[in-house]
Amino acid sequence: MEIYDIAVIGAGPAGCMAAIQGAQNGAKVILLERNDKIGRKLLLTANGRCNLTNTSNLEVFLEKFGRRGSFYRNAFSEFSNHDLMDFFKTHGLESKEEEEGRVFPFTERAESVVDILKNVLAECGVKILYNYRLEHLHKRPNIFKLSSTDNQLITAHNAIIATGGVTYGFTGSTGDGFTVAELLGHHITDLKPGGVPLLVREEWVHQLKGVTLENVGLSIGYGGKKISLPDGNLLLTHFGISGPVILDMSNMIVDLMDKHDDLKLYIDFKPDIKQEAMGVQLMEDFKNHSKKILKNYLKKYLPNSMIDPLLKTLNLDSQKKLNQITKKERLQLQETLKALPITISGHLPLNKAMVTCGGVSKKEIDPQTMESKRVNGLYFAGEIIAGCGRRGGYNLQQAFSTGYVAGNNASR
Ligand SMILES: Cc1cc2nc3c(=O)[nH]c(=O)nc-3n(C[C@H](O)[C@H](O)[C@H](O)COP(=O)(O)OP(=O)(O)OC[C@H]3O[C@@H](n4cnc5c(N)ncnc54)[C@H](O)[C@@H]3O)c2cc1C
Repeated sequence: MEIYDIAVIGAGPAGCMAAIQGAQNGAKVILLERNDKIGRKLLLTANGRCNLTNTSNLEVFLEKFGRRGSFYRNAFSEFSNHDLMDFFKTHGLESKEEEEGRVFPFTERAESVVDILKNVLAECGVKILYNYRLEHLHKRPNIFKLSSTDNQLITAHNAIIATGGVTYGFTGSTGDGFTVAELLGHHITDLKPGGVPLLVREEWVHQLKGVTLENVGLSIGYGGKKISLPDGNLLLTHFGISGPVILDMSNMIVDLMDKHDDLKLYIDFKPDIKQEAMGVQLMEDFKNHSKKILKNYLKKYLPNSMIDPLLKTLNLDSQKKLNQITKKERLQLQETLKALPITISGHLPLNKAMVTCGGVSKKEIDPQTMESKRVNGLYFAGEIIAGCGRRGGYNLQQAFSTGYVAGNNASR
């Protein structure tokens, strides 16, 4: 039976880069993929536009991966955002930078990225076995024996597991790698969603699906405490809330959810004005525009579609003139405009999250090589590794960088 130098399991960005790097170093590499094509999840990224990486510096990159972000210092240094952009440029795909340093292929098509990976895999002689779903991976002295669900056997001196996480399972990432890693003695940390929309209880939010509240201030309240989130756009959906800030902060919110059952999100419609100044402004406006109808006045602060549902929750008649509003009602409005509470009741399931936070414990992986500390010759790359990054191209860079390091070291 043919013995490969490296068997890479999973042809997402991490597995493809690992296979390319291994083969470019002269190793005989086989890439095993359960689908009949490579990069199915990659095709979905950034709505098909693929936010490939970010122009931030190394320290920002590490921050984006939270408490244990420094684990990636070597990987992001050995194969940086600039190396990734150069890699695609060398193979004919330029990239471009958009707001917040986010980098996209010039074509704005994830297919272009997948096509390059496919071409380079072919150029450097990586053998790809499609429709191969790894089921078992055994370590014999100096050799790995792999078998698929339909009992196809492969042997290799080194193995790189790059099977991704457990989100968007229809793309092939269903967590098979976690089972295999666990059977080889690894600890899998809690699998939690990263970049996930949140469920809210208030019916009026569901009714306003599709409405975006622009540049609002946001904070989270729990157990008598309040944490401020960055200002930004809040998207209302038929189940709750989403949008850049929520997706970015959802890891932290999901953690809080595990410990507290009274989570509230407070929306500040005028984050640039302090509470007292807001009170003064309302008082003056109510005096100067006393004949104005409340509904029309509130257009100054709220999207039109939001005014009626909101006034209903406050039991206020939208047709009242400003001079008919009592002091108590005005103070109630002031409070609502500065800190409208909505009740967070959960989050969409893990399968609907952008990334899986949790996976093979970083403590069991050597950050210099991506090799397992438990099993010699076994490497991990990509989302299978515990933790996750924020939105902005950081997760794809993590997949490419760890893939590069794993491929490099497995071929030594
Ligand atoms: C909708 C969406 C949009 C996203 N947008 C962005 C973005 O714009 N920028 C960004 O940085 N990140 C984005 N992400 C996250 C990013 O796509 C992932 O972090 C990245 O794809 C992880 O790469 P990976 O190679 O580790 O795993 P994956 O891309 O999940 O690839 C794993 C591969 O392993 C294969 N596999 C699984 N099990 C087996 C098995 N048993 N045998 C053989 N093969 C197997 C799978 O079929 C798959 O091809 C997005 C994610 C989603 C869901």
